Amino acid sequence: MQPYEELVSELTYRSFMHGEAYQNGGTPYRMTTKKPLPYRDLVKRAAGMIEDADCILVGGGSGLSAAGGGDFYYSDNASYRAHFGKFAEKSGFKGAFAGSFYPWPTPESRWGYLATFLDTTINAPLRQPYKDLDALISDKDFFVLTTNQDTQFLKIYPWDKVAEIQGDHRFFQCGNCCTDEVWDSVGPVGEMIGAMGDGLEVPSDLVPRCPHCGREAFPWVRGYGNFLQGELYEEQYRKVSEWIEAHRERKVLFFELGVGRITPAFIQEPFWMLTAQLPHAHYISVNNVTQFLPEAIEDRGIAIRKDIAKALADVRSDMGR
Ligand SMILES: [Zn+2]
Repeated sequence: MQPYEELVSELTYRSFMHGEAYQNGGTPYRMTTKKPLPYRDLVKRAAGMIEDADCILVGGGSGLSAAGGGDFYYSDNASYRAHFGKFAEKSGFKGAFAGSFYPWPTPESRWGYLATFLDTTINAPLRQPYKDLDALISDKDFFVLTTNQDTQFLKIYPWDKVAEIQGDHRFFQCGNCCTDEVWDSVGPVGEMIGAMGDGLEVPSDLVPRCPHCGREAFPWVRGYGNFLQGELYEEQYRKVSEWIEAHRERKVLFFELGVGRITPAFIQEPFWMLTAQLPHAHYISVNNVTQFLPEAIEDRGIAIRKDIAKALADVRSDMGR
């Protein structure tokens, strides 16, 4: 197991021990009692910390994509209706994830929905918060760790700069995990979308299947109980572990964006631990719901509670980029 994955496992285990502390969106870690600076001062501090860093590890969570318009996963809103309108009218789903967990009666109907779901992310334009973030970090030695499966980071950065530890919509795996192989989903999704037209189901011969056992394929993502944790998965943890190891003595900035309360042990809590452990590390978090700054790193970090799109744009503007 790679060092970063070991850290995640340990913190996940610890989070189960303190389950009640997470209820109602809390955390078991001791938080600073210092009052946060006013927003404008936090923006200036963030700009200064970015300038001052030798290198930056970005941690991108669901809030980052939601801030840029990828906000249709958990609610029935205007963007959900725009992408999933033909399903929304019949189904009553409250957001895109509801349909991806729905027990569809046939493979053809399941893939009508899943292809639509994957098409919305694979073919989405690069969203503004990602562009603003890029303006902040692109002249630095940086690396990106993300739990987002929507491939936004891969639209601007090469494969070796990004670790996608919860999967990636551009790949299919065997639904039964019979093989370690994953394969391209982009071509098959395009064919399904084209063949479906305004309908709700794909033709039977386009239902994606495992080339080895013939079972239905599935997107390579965590969340459905069959996530393939093989070589591709190991590679993600290897990339981030090696980056941290190579930079541990430098002035590393841990830059956490939009981590929600579902999986704090993947990005947020490791970032807290590493900021405390590494000799010259600093930490910034931007979140539109929480403002968590652990006491252990209160002199080395800031937490900004703000709409992420707005905060990134403001830091960018403060830096004159
Ligand atoms: Zn198979």
